[in-house]
Amino acid sequence: MNERKRVLVLFCGGTIVMEEKPDGSLAVPEDKDSAIEILRNCEPKLTTIADYDIEFIANIDSTNITPADWDRIIMKIKEKYREYDGFVITHGTDTMAYTAAALSVAINGLGKPVVLTGSQIPGGRIESDARRNLVNAFRLAIMDIAGVFIVFDERIILGSRATKASESRLDAFQSVNSEDAGEISIDIKMKDWVKKRIRETHDIEVSPGFESDIFVYTLSPGCDPNDLEFLLNNEEIKGIIIRAYGTGNIPYGFESFFKKARARNLPVIVTSQCLHGKTLMHLYDVGRKALELGAIEGHEQSLEILCAKLMWGLRHCPDRIEELINAENY
Ligand code: ASP
Repeated sequence: MNERKRVLVLFCGGTIVMEEKPDGSLAVPEDKDSAIEILRNCEPKLTTIADYDIEFIANIDSTNITPADWDRIIMKIKEKYREYDGFVITHGTDTMAYTAAALSVAINGLGKPVVLTGSQIPGGRIESDARRNLVNAFRLAIMDIAGVFIVFDERIILGSRATKASESRLDAFQSVNSEDAGEISIDIKMKDWVKKRIRETHDIEVSPGFESDIFVYTLSPGCDPNDLEFLLNNEEIKGIIIRAYGTGNIPYGFESFFKKARARNLPVIVTSQCLHGKTLMHLYDVGRKALELGAIEGHEQSLEILCAKLMWGLRHCPDRIEELINAENY
């Protein structure tokens, strides 16, 4: 006889449980139990897929998420790891890709699926995408795969590759510089490269803790590097990401910025402003100069995974940030 599967839902709020306030804006209900009830009511028949429990993490608009919430998710997965076949995290869409990236970095040896989902339309509305996303997240959470994923609309995206690409389309997320990990049609089809579930009893290694004092700066034509002096003089700032042009190009004039950052041991990571852009900083003189001055290339990675790696690395391996940025994204 087949044993019933077990899923643990980690509740983090988001539009999926939001209601309209008198002024027309959306917010999570103040009472967390009512919020959890809205989630349960999205699909009362979820138990036909798996038995499930819900653990409360946060009842927030995900705009307000912090690394402390990531740590709570990570520690809960560690604590309950052996008891469940898979984990579903219900979460607002705005920062879902950052949370997925953070979990991908801080959890090691994952042998089961951890699936993030949410909705673009509040779960209580008839036209909501909540039911379908939740059902598909549950289906994925009991499959024989392993890793962190975002399930949204018809897409299954690796947690370390996701970005929110639309604020309104139901198909809100995309994979950055990678194919999707799978797709949802009548069946769920996963790509061959997706890791398989580890069937033997095992544990995971987790390393919570993220440095939130990083700064992300977007170049615009004519921007003055002297304006960034405040960053270099602010001891609270521990790392910087520059969203540069094209293949990672930075205008001449940033020499002293890079020299001072290096003297302060401040890692400066360079990524591309292009949504699907990879850095190729050797290609143009304007990129090569920055590289020679100590910039760390973000390569093909999304802003979300670069932030998560930098934030995690500053706490766990501050002298090996470049190595961490270059490490495989899983
Ligand atoms: N602002 C909402 C949130 O991220 C958006 C959503 O859930 O779709 O919590």
